[in-house]
Amino acid sequence: MNNKTQITNIEELICKLNKHMQDNNLNSNIYQYNGGSFLLLENIEEEGQINEFLEQYIDDNEIEYNIDMIMSSGFSDEYATCHNCGEIVNTQVYEHRQVECLIVNECELLCKKCLDNNLDQFIGEFINNSNKAINSALFTEKELLNLEFEKVTENFENGLYKSMNDDPKSILNDFINKYPNKEFVFFLEGGSPYHAEFSLYSREL
Ligand SMILES: [Zn+2]
Repeated sequence: MNNKTQITNIEELICKLNKHMQDNNLNSNIYQYNGGSFLLLENIEEEGQINEFLEQYIDDNEIEYNIDMIMSSGFSDEYATCHNCGEIVNTQVYEHRQVECLIVNECELLCKKCLDNNLDQFIGEFINNSNKAINSALFTEKELLNLEFEKVTENFENGLYKSMNDDPKSILNDFINKYPNKEFVFFLEGGSPYHAEFSLYSREL
């Protein structure tokens, strides 16, 4: 007869893992992520130690699932926690993938959800600022339109290639002089490491 307890409660396993990490002074940690849990690994050594613990635990309790089915995990050089809500965000930028977070006010990391909730404050940093452009990987054009912005002009290019010499500073100055009752933001629509494609949006003051 098998007198080992069948673990059906994932929370219990997570709780035991948390305790194990504390008892062993590990720097890895478990956070909330997309409604589930996320194991943020500090380094490969800790990953090894944690896997050992989990394998032993799964073995002892005859659990039929593995850790990947219980929670996501990643290393701390690719993930961070939102400074506002504490949720884990992937800080890596890949092509064709929605950006999950942004650094605002120089050093504050905010997830997309928190940015959405403070959109007006976030937009403030970009208004009449020729050094910054709202990245289309983070905010869609629709979200800009919802804030009552409308496209003024598009297809600006700036970069290392010949003729890509649109200068955000002079573009902005021209438009501010022409339309003193409006405010402007640049919208980064694409590009490469060597050039940027952007457009200008405005709304009434
Ligand atoms: Zn957040």
